[in-house]
Order: sequence, then C-alpha cells, then structure tokens
Amino acid sequence: MASILSTFAIGVRVVFTRSLTHQLTERLSALGQGAAANAEFDHGRFRVGEDFSTQDLTARGQAIQWFDSQGKLLNQEGKAVVSLPLATADAVQIQTGQPRLQAVTLPILGSDDQQLLGYVRVSQSLAEVDENLQKLDLGLGGGILLALLLSGLGGLWLTRQAMQPIEASFQRLQQFTADAAHELRSPLMVIKSNAAVALKYPEAMRPTDREKFAAIASATSQMTKLTEDLLLLARTEKDTQTDGQTFNLTPLLTGLLQQYVPQAAAKQLHFKSHVAESLAIKGDAAQLTCLVDNLIANALHYTAAGGTIAVQASQLEHTLVITVQDTGMGIAPEHLERVFDRFWRADASRSYWDGGSGLGLAIAQAIAHAHDGSITVSSQLGVGSCFTVRLPAV
Ligand code: ADP
Repeated sequence: MASILSTFAIGVRVVFTRSLTHQLTERLSALGQGAAANAEFDHGRFRVGEDFSTQDLTARGQAIQWFDSQGKLLNQEGKAVVSLPLATADAVQIQTGQPRLQAVTLPILGSDDQQLLGYVRVSQSLAEVDENLQKLDLGLGGGILLALLLSGLGGLWLTRQAMQPIEASFQRLQQFTADAAHELRSPLMVIKSNAAVALKYPEAMRPTDREKFAAIASATSQMTKLTEDLLLLARTEKDTQTDGQTFNLTPLLTGLLQQYVPQAAAKQLHFKSHVAESLAIKGDAAQLTCLVDNLIANALHYTAAGGTIAVQASQLEHTLVITVQDTGMGIAPEHLERVFDRFWRADASRSYWDGGSGLGLAIAQAIAHAHDGSITVSSQLGVGSCFTVRLPAV
C-alpha cells in the first residue's frame, strides 16, 4: 500500500513540476517576445522601447538581459539576473543556488530583413514554483500518511470481523470436545467396572471369554485415559490465562519426584534430580504438576534399563527453568517439530496399548502457554532427549 501510494505521489509530483515549469517558460517566452519586439538599438546598446514597461519586473522577481549577436552582455534590467553563459536561442536555462532562477533566451531580429541583431534573455525567480511544490509535497505526504493510517485501521477492523466467526467456531469445537469427553466418562466407567467384575471370577468363564473381557477392560482403560486427556487439553486451552495463586513449586516437584523413585528403580534406571530451594510461581499447581509429570512419565517410558533420567529445576533471573533429560531412544530430527502435535506418536503403528494417548506433550505445551511460558525439546536418536520448560518466576 505504501509503495503504491508513493509511486502515485512521485508521478503526481513529476507531472505537477513539469506543468509549473512549462507555464513559467510560456510566461517568460511571452515576456521575451515583447522585450525582443520592443528592443531599440541605440549608441551601441539595446534599451527597452518606450512601449515596453519594465516597472513591474523587480516586483515580479523577473529580469531582462540584452546581448549582441556575439553573445556579449550589453544591458540588463531587474534583479533576478542569470549569471550563466548565454545559451542558444529558445533554450531554457535553470540556475541553481539561492534563489533558483529560470531563464529563456530569444533572438532579436531586424524588423525588415530578419537579420540577427542580438539576443534577449528573460529570467524569473523559481521561489513561487518551489513554494507551490513544497505545499504539494506536504499535501501528498500528509495524504499518504492519512491513507496508510486509515487503511491500517480498516484492515485491523476487517481482520477482527473476519476472525470473530472463526474464533466462535473454535470455541464451540473446544466446548464440544470438553462436553463429549465429559459425557463419555460415565458409560466408560460402567463398562470398565462390569468387565472388572466379570474378570474377578475367571473360573466361571471359558478361556476365550476371559480374553475378550480382558481386551474390553484394556480398551476401556485406553479410552478412559484418552477422554481424560482430551478433557484436560480442552479445559487448559479454554482458559488461556491462568489466574491462579502464587505458590512455591519446590515441594510439589520434590513430592512428584519421590513418587517416581520406585518406578525408576523397578526399571533399573538411574534417577537424578536437583530442585532449587524456593521456586515461586503464579498459576495452577495441579496443571503445573501435570506438565512435569507428563515429561517424567515419557522419560521413564522411552528410556531402556540402565539409562539415566535427570530432572532439574532452578531459577535464572526472572525465569524458572525445568529440564527433564533422559538417555533414552531419542527423537528423529524430522519428528522434533511434530512431538507437540495432538495424537502424534513416533511409532503410530503400535499394535498394543502402552498407556499413552499421544496427547501428553500437547497438554504440557498448552499448560506452559497458559502460564506465559514455553516448552522446547532437543534430542538425538539413540542418544537421548531433553525437554526444557521455561516459566515466568514471581
Ligand atoms: P504419548 O507418550 O502418550 O505417546 P506424548 O504426547 O507424550 O504422547 O508424546 C508424543 C510422542 O513423542 C511419543 O509417542 C514419542 O514418540 C515421543 N516422545 C515423547 N517423549 C519422548 C522421550 N522422552 N523420548 C523419546 N520420545 C519421546
């Protein structure tokens, strides 16, 4: 928009400048013709004929110079005289400097034989032209700024109007996901408890029926986990700004890490942790615990026996930095930017359920964003991964 308007303004200025210069040239030519026609040659020098009035020359910022046929200056009238060498007949000259002057040179021809007697050069100050151009520049500049401002505001307003239905349908979708997940919980609970009751008395069933009930119980657990994660994700994304209270994250993290010690030992993993003394943060304690919980659960899940998991939490100036590092299977570089996508899993063809829903990292990211923070990952296939969460400290 700015470049289109600027091109237009440059075009207008060029045309306007040409038109003003042309008008002035015409005016000077008419004056020059009058001066040439009224020139009288007297005692070796020209003078203005009696019919020609030079009274107003100075008032109009004009000047007339007479030259002989060799180009020698013979006489001059007025203040706006040009000091440039004489140009050929009908040439337009512009003298730069202060004030700027424009001059037109015309031949003086004998009335009978049309013989060249000399030249007359009329000039005028360009102050008036410059003043008009300055006004034009101001008008065009102001117009462009105003047009840009109005079009910017208009664009903003239009974008807002266009975004409203999209935002509304996005919110409806979020609400629907939350409602559907919520409504699915009860029937899933009924199926799960019935399957559990049936499996309590396996001797009363045929072995094939037992397997079917076990499959029902496993699928129901998977669906329950999925609906719970969906509900959590929808709720976290809905409340983009978590008000929450200021609290110390240290005891929460220490408690969480304690819970993982037996699991890590059972999997023969080295579990190291270091949490700084006082980590004050404002937000939702349950959500933040869930964030770190998801990362540690993944680290445990994707690291083979003998590996190491290190969790660190510290404060760097105004930021709380939590890192969960493992020496597990790692993530391929081409997958790194997809790990936070919903339902994305590196091994999408898993034939058995391993307890994950593919929503853990999406939830972690939504929680970090809701707390004005961020989550990043660096990983190397076969070497390990490191997830870093940055949150604003209080
Ligand atoms: P889930 O673990 O339930 O599959 P997540 O959203 O937590 O879902 O993780 C998405 C995918 O990212 C996982 O399926 C896995 O492929 C990869 N991933 C996450 N954490 C790690 C990790 N620590 N090491 C290796 N891969 C990981």
